[in-house]
Amino acid sequence: MILAIRIKLNPTKEQEVLFWKSAGTARWAYNYYLNANNKYYAEHKMPIKEGDVRKEINNVLKPTTHTWLSEVGSNVMKQAVKDADEARKRWLDGISAKPKFKSRHKSEPKFYVNYESLKRTKEGFRGEKLGIVKTFQPLPNINKNIQKQNKVIRNLHKRLTDVRNDHLHQSSSEIVKTKPSRIVMEHLNVKGMMKNKHLANAVAQQKLYEFKRQVKYKCRKYGIEFVEADRWFPSSKICSCCGKKKTDLKLSDRVFVCSHCDLKLDRDLNAAINLANYQIREA
Ligand SMILES: [Zn+2]
Repeated sequence: MILAIRIKLNPTKEQEVLFWKSAGTARWAYNYYLNANNKYYAEHKMPIKEGDVRKEINNVLKPTTHTWLSEVGSNVMKQAVKDADEARKRWLDGISAKPKFKSRHKSEPKFYVNYESLKRTKEGFRGEKLGIVKTFQPLPNINKNIQKQNKVIRNLHKRLTDVRNDHLHQSSSEIVKTKPSRIVMEHLNVKGMMKNKHLANAVAQQKLYEFKRQVKYKCRKYGIEFVEADRWFPSSKICSCCGKKKTDLKLSDRVFVCSHCDLKLDRDLNAAINLANYQIREA
């Protein structure tokens, strides 16, 4: 699937200057949002609205102290503010690191233009504030292609969601239909999982919650006891045979080997036996 196309431009000297100005404007707007958000958060304990930041830039700064903003295309500032807001959200969702201020020297000079706003010409395209920019190859007629591809992606996402939901329902039903007297599930330590970058996936987390919710209500329906293990219960580290705790167990150890009684068992199976015995052995 084509996600991006690179096209080499052949700008005039004036256009090159404008490109650099646009990149500078994007960097400034990104930083402006982060700074405004920091200040706003310190005072209100909630994030600033990116739309309010853009309004302030457009209505207060642009006509007075920052008139240079009108030298470049209007999408440049808009998208940079949106990007910064998106980066902040990704940070809060545990997906990326905290967004940093972009430095003139270290950050990649780049800016955004709305592709749909570009008018194709014989030699290249006409862009807002740019005039006609020559390119080394013709611009693809992306509008239709993008629309088609977006539709394909949307359908794939929907199908993926359906498959996942089906899988959740099937698995939770299968477990309940074996008619156990009780089911013990681990406490989902969401904060702990977020610290592990491999597990810090919003979808994964959401699906775990949903899976637990389904098992719970299906247990209630069939009169099965549902137990949630204590958050600190070390299900993986305990030897399911002799009960000794293995403190140096790593996440990469797929086989549990007990140095006390020589038990050798698949890591997950060992943890599952411990959960099955939860509060039975102790009692
Ligand atoms: Zn053992």
